[in-house]
Amino acid sequence: MNQVIELIKADVKKEKPAVESLGFGKHFTDYMFVMDYNDEDGWHHPRITPYAPLVLEPSAMVLHYGQAVFEGLKAYRAKDGRVLLFRPEKNVARLNMSCARLSIPQIDEDVVLDAIKQLVELEKDWIPNEEGTSLYIRPFIIATESSLGVHPAHEYKLMIILSPVGSYYGDQLKPVRIYVEDEYVRAVPGGVGFTKTAGNYAASLKAQEKAEQMGYDQVLWLDGVERKYIEEVGSMNIFFKINGEVVTPKLNGSILGGVTRDSVIQLLQYWNVPVREVRISIDEIYEAYQKGQLEEVFGTGTAAVISPVGELGWKDIIMELPNAEDPDTIAKRLYDALTGIQLGKTEDPLNWTLEIK
Ligand SMILES: *Cc1c(COP(=O)(O)O)cnc(C)c1O
Repeated sequence: MNQVIELIKADVKKEKPAVESLGFGKHFTDYMFVMDYNDEDGWHHPRITPYAPLVLEPSAMVLHYGQAVFEGLKAYRAKDGRVLLFRPEKNVARLNMSCARLSIPQIDEDVVLDAIKQLVELEKDWIPNEEGTSLYIRPFIIATESSLGVHPAHEYKLMIILSPVGSYYGDQLKPVRIYVEDEYVRAVPGGVGFTKTAGNYAASLKAQEKAEQMGYDQVLWLDGVERKYIEEVGSMNIFFKINGEVVTPKLNGSILGGVTRDSVIQLLQYWNVPVREVRISIDEIYEAYQKGQLEEVFGTGTAAVISPVGELGWKDIIMELPNAEDPDTIAKRLYDALTGIQLGKTEDPLNWTLEIK
């Protein structure tokens, strides 16, 4: 299905940044996709316009009550020049899932997927070629209705912006240091932890700041009720390899169900590596560590793909995971397999890539 998307041409094109200066989410391409919603017309007027500042009422509801959802995925340039997306239908479905929880009207998933494809096709010269780089795709929806009354808005904008990105942590499989947060919480059962909504990030900044002050890279969240069970890392899901078996927290309503998380579980199953979704406490992790059974810890997410954890700090305990730099880990094997599939370098046994042409 190819919807008619109006194209409003840019008069001038930007100069593309040097690959060394890409970073994450600092540069944006020439065009963006925009679509509006109101109760009368539903989602309407899909268009690709020059990337430019928005005009919003200061009373736009998103600015006051935070009705905002987003997604994050990447377009990759294969060695042979093909442009590949990785399981984009999962992101589009998750966008609607987030919308449902935030009382934002559902959107036709084919329309959003088609918008992503058309925008990336138009901007494909922005996809960098170098190892570890890609074009980050950020779809998001905000409530634009002018009103200070608290209610689900009657007007919204869906936008898609694109950003060429370098590798997330610099050297890709550089181990990260993670701090187990036991004071602040990110999400509670019945809340919005399972959605990609702006407020989850606003709520996480304080703990992230605290972890950074202590010399850590990111926070590992515990459950919001008992402050005991492992949930996830800042923008990654978390996996542990204990005594030969890989485990990850079960999706319980307060954890974001990552596309990378799902892909890792499926790949491990495909390889016949034992993997289970469990409810696991930080005490159990520490116990496994003390017995010498905690073999690997790694995070999963679109931005960094796989991040081995080299150190886990919890209160005054430091769990060192020297394996993190070992080339024979499950983390490394998963990283190679996923990036191989994403870049079209290896077979795609589970049929995850979508070529844009
Ligand atoms: C986006 C996100 C993830 C990772 O999801 P992917 O689909 O794998 O990128 C994990 N946790 C949170 C809180 C997130 O927002």
